Amino acid sequence: MRKNIVAGNWKMNKTLQEGLALATELNSALIGKSLNCDVIIGTPFIHLASVASAIDTKQIGIAAQNCADKESGAYTGEVSAAMIKSTGADYVILGHSERRAYYGETFETLKDKVLLALKNNLNPIFCIGEVLAEREENRQNEVVKAQLEGSVFNLSAEDFGKIILAYEPVWAIGTGKTASPEQAQEIHAYIRSLVAQKFGNQVADNATILYGGSCNAGNAKELFTNPDVDGGLIGGASLKVADFCAIIDAF
Ligand code: PEP
Repeated sequence: MRKNIVAGNWKMNKTLQEGLALATELNSALIGKSLNCDVIIGTPFIHLASVASAIDTKQIGIAAQNCADKESGAYTGEVSAAMIKSTGADYVILGHSERRAYYGETFETLKDKVLLALKNNLNPIFCIGEVLAEREENRQNEVVKAQLEGSVFNLSAEDFGKIILAYEPVWAIGTGKTASPEQAQEIHAYIRSLVAQKFGNQVADNATILYGGSCNAGNAKELFTNPDVDGGLIGGASLKVADFCAIIDAF
């Protein structure tokens, strides 16, 4: 069954104390509420274990924002998928455009990270999306197709079913510019058609495809109303409980 999901990406924000305060405030706001979507928060690595023990992880899932492309060993500074899983997190954001742009993540590295995440029972939230120049040249379809083929279309249908896709036009991330609901629907439908071609209609129907890029309380409802937009990956607006809850309430 396709799930609606609102997932936060805190990026490199919040000290441990601030992050714990944010997570517990969100937990209190959602406690006992029956929601029309799953809720996930993507915290920095150092927050994962503390946040997992401070909140109800059945109500709020926890995601890391990256994992190593190696299993274990002499990789100073890296954090493995197994380590992430051991904190209580069940998800990992992979392929975010900031990691592709600033940390040189390639299709191949991401393919390895996705495999390691799955091997360790973490569900990847796999991000794809074009930069402004590519959108201006009307190349967005070709870009997302290459990103999927390069890193996740090698999977079995069963494993692909564990992935949450997030379409994030890079020109909309943190810029205040949002894709119009029509632009979002058009490319989400295209992404779903690619999944159908590769894995069949049932896998495509069940796939959750989130929209990310300056999604906020004011535009979430219009975006989520589209048949192929199954929720959002939320950056800036996930850092304030009221803003994040208003997006959750859009469902
Ligand atoms: C993101 O970084 O995943 C994101 C969507 O950021 P923002 O909501 O701030 O544009």
